[in-house]
Amino acid sequence: MNILVLNCGSATLKFQLIATDLDLISQNADRRFVRGSIERIGGEAIITSQLEGHAVQRSTAPLRDTRAAVDFIIRWLCSPDANLAEVRAIADIHAVGHRVVHGGEFFKHSVLIDEEVLRGIEDCIDLAPLHNPANLKGILAARELFGVGLPQVAVFDTAFHQTLPETAYLYALPYPLYRRYRIRRYGFHGTSHRYVAYRYRQLCNMERVATNIITLHLGNGCSAAAIRAGNSIDTSMGFTPLEGLVMGTRSGDLDPAIVDWLAAKEGLSAREVETLLNKQSGLLGISGLTNDMRDLLDEARENNDRRARLAIELFCYRIRKYIGAYLAAMNGADAVVFTGGIGENSPEVRTTICAGLEWLGLHLDAERNAAQTNGREGVISTTDSHLAAYVIPTDEELLIARDTARCVAGVSLERRS
Ligand code: ADP
Repeated sequence: MNILVLNCGSATLKFQLIATDLDLISQNADRRFVRGSIERIGGEAIITSQLEGHAVQRSTAPLRDTRAAVDFIIRWLCSPDANLAEVRAIADIHAVGHRVVHGGEFFKHSVLIDEEVLRGIEDCIDLAPLHNPANLKGILAARELFGVGLPQVAVFDTAFHQTLPETAYLYALPYPLYRRYRIRRYGFHGTSHRYVAYRYRQLCNMERVATNIITLHLGNGCSAAAIRAGNSIDTSMGFTPLEGLVMGTRSGDLDPAIVDWLAAKEGLSAREVETLLNKQSGLLGISGLTNDMRDLLDEARENNDRRARLAIELFCYRIRKYIGAYLAAMNGADAVVFTGGIGENSPEVRTTICAGLEWLGLHLDAERNAAQTNGREGVISTTDSHLAAYVIPTDEELLIARDTARCVAGVSLERRS
């Protein structure tokens, strides 16, 4: 079946068209026809698309809202412009899979969207006020344009981490606050952690219950997950995606007393401090230059910029600490798996992260490490490493498409990863 995968943000929409079904999944033979994005929705939007095996195309169009953007995608997919042999009319799109950021404690796996699911996603708006409304708009737009009969599936960023034990998800706040407001660690990037854990299992030809790994999603946003017996048992992002690792513009972990102190010193509101922690901190904040790791590495290499080097060191040090913490939490692991734009492409950052972990039995193989870039997957540690290291490019859209196919086929997703 042809599945349209939608990831709707407030002014941006990413999409892919993927053909998959239970047979194709079992043969690992899914096909991706097209990927693209629409930015600056609300004005003259910028549309970028890439048909499989072709160059990237760019165009612009006035698109006033999410509905107009989804409408644009559907029309384009069916048009001679796209020239897709598999999609000639709207009826050739058989289901829609949506990335939904927050599923709270309601959603522990992907689900077919009905009225109750819509209400559940709405109930989580309080927890993700920027993201869930945009995701809902995408669902409602698709429902209006395709009709209520077309199956739509919600795949939640939080769902994979719903297996965290209480000790890992509770903050040591007064317990009634958890009951009253559901303040707890939810974790994000769940689809990515789940996908790379699944690929790791395939690469190593092992059972789900035998999967004991630490996954590191290092992109603009960064998070680590401790996966024991195939389940996420701890993860670095928390109640919001601000906690944990140092990220492009987010601070990650810090002493919460800093918020009030900074507000008083700088005359900022709590909201302004939150913005500072989310948008002006992390790699950007430390370097004073950029949130982009590639540029920072260039700056450190070419100009030996002190703060660029410091930002990279801090970034790697925080990750190393989390690896240590998770090895303790999960009673040891078999591998550390790198993914995300930085994790997949930077041998240098991977080397810095793993430096000093030799005592654990993690030895990077310089040649293997250097070879794993640009979407290649494989092992990067030496054969005799006690703790292996892998690079596995993430593919959240593929997992969303597959979950959509499984939900439509009525397969239970309760125990699946
Ligand atoms: P997002 O989290 O928005 O999906 P990505 O996963 O694409 O982002 O990751 C973006 C990050 O990956 C940026 O910091 C970028 O500089 C970094 N990156 C991409 N390619 C490289 C590379 N070759 N070397 C180092 N960092 C890279």
